[in-house]
Amino acid sequence: MSGMIVSTEPATGAEIWSGPAGDAAAEVAAARAAWPEWAAHSVTYRMETLRRFANVVRAREAEFAELIARETGKPFWEAKTEVGSVIAKVEISIEAYGERTPTRRLEAAMGNKIAVRHKPHGVLAVLGPYNFPAHLPNGHIVPALLAGNAVVFKPSEKTPATGAFLVDCFREAGVPDGAIRLLIGGPEEGKSLASQDGIDGLLFTGSARAGMALHRQFADVPHKILALELGGNNPIVAWDTPDIRAAATIVVQSAYLSAGQRCTAARRLIVEDGKHDELIAEIVRLIDRIIVDQPMADPQPFMGPVIDMAAADHLQEQFVGLMMKGGKPIRRLERPFEERPYLTPTLIDVTDVKDRPDEELFGPVLQLIRVKDFDEAIDEANNTRFGLAASVLTKDPKLYDRFWANVRSGVINWNKPTNGAPSSAPFGGIGLSGNHRPSAFYAADYSAYPVTSVESEVTRAVIAEGLREAFVATEE
Ligand code: NAD
Repeated sequence: MSGMIVSTEPATGAEIWSGPAGDAAAEVAAARAAWPEWAAHSVTYRMETLRRFANVVRAREAEFAELIARETGKPFWEAKTEVGSVIAKVEISIEAYGERTPTRRLEAAMGNKIAVRHKPHGVLAVLGPYNFPAHLPNGHIVPALLAGNAVVFKPSEKTPATGAFLVDCFREAGVPDGAIRLLIGGPEEGKSLASQDGIDGLLFTGSARAGMALHRQFADVPHKILALELGGNNPIVAWDTPDIRAAATIVVQSAYLSAGQRCTAARRLIVEDGKHDELIAEIVRLIDRIIVDQPMADPQPFMGPVIDMAAADHLQEQFVGLMMKGGKPIRRLERPFEERPYLTPTLIDVTDVKDRPDEELFGPVLQLIRVKDFDEAIDEANNTRFGLAASVLTKDPKLYDRFWANVRSGVINWNKPTNGAPSSAPFGGIGLSGNHRPSAFYAADYSAYPVTSVESEVTRAVIAEGLREAFVATEE
């Protein structure tokens, strides 16, 4: 056990929550005991319970948003959109459950019927990241509960208060205590939860590093479902864009929203060498207008601090590393308040950097890469082990067609930011960004398994070939 978990506000350093690390075995045992009753309810009952959950969150919207803003450092306006996504998840999941895992009846020969129905796995563990500490775990929890699973949820050790608040809302709505368990803790508790015999699967959103560790941990239990939603090193290609201001705005939104702490944030801006000056000038003008401030400040900032000092230090080291390899800063990474993890939005030209590290720089750092033609832009976009999100900004539909056909990524956008994926569609990446178990609308797929039944009301059998005389067995 990791002892006490203490959560502090990134913006101020003030303690916001503390509590002891939990015991994975005990939480899993509680969930296992409660699971049969929850699974035995009708799906309509579970839908109505989850609709009550949406209403509970709606009633506590401002309180929840303020907590998320304080605990993550993201601006209050952005935390409100996160709470909105938590509420919207219920109706989307109900629709997805019906569409992705419907009961089907098919006619078969001799009056037989074939039925396809879905069953819950049992107890599912959910591990959440800190950057969307409510919306992303909720994107696993709601579909899992709806399908009839019990859930043990471990929020990030950096956002336990948000995790605890979310679980409170489920309970207030009438989800039984045993059907949604809260496990407080860090990576140690995460590993322990993942190793419990009593879980039937694990739904994970977080870093590729932790995702790979979990994949190894699951090597000996191929019968357990493992859904991995991991990071990215996402490209945005700006090519032949007449509206420079709009293009610059999309680049800035893609790279710096949430202080760059989004899995879908653009990390690499790819442009046509020699034709990029105007766009870069406009991006820099916007960067210089961005307000970086504490989450509840008035006027509201565009971005707050990153999650903690360790993250800020790490990003600074990565930025200096790029400079030492020949990267040329266009806007440097500054630390406006030395004692708190605020970073300014940065832009660095890494075209001449040899062996650019294919790492996810999880903060407001955008790397510029100049290329000579569109083929090279596509090669550069694909020059990563990840494959989460990619955008192209161009007026030419044919270029979009080429981009779409040749770029390897789970999200491919045209004249839109890399981030802000719709929950009403599947969301997941290829390469190191996941393990082909997309979430959002397709979360229904990994929350239940299909059972195919061939059914007849009478016991009847025929062996048509290979017998010495015709043989029909029929129940009278
Ligand atoms: P993280 O991997 O450090 O932690 C995620 C969760 O896993 C936390 O609850 C943590 O305690 C736990 N954990 C960490 N190491 C573990 C291990 N070895 N075994 C078991 N559990 C472990 O991620 P983070 O820093 O909280 O979140 C940021 C990362 O999440 C970024 O890489 C980002 O791209 C990614 N992310 C992906 C998506 C997506 O949908 N694809 C969405 C948001 C964030």
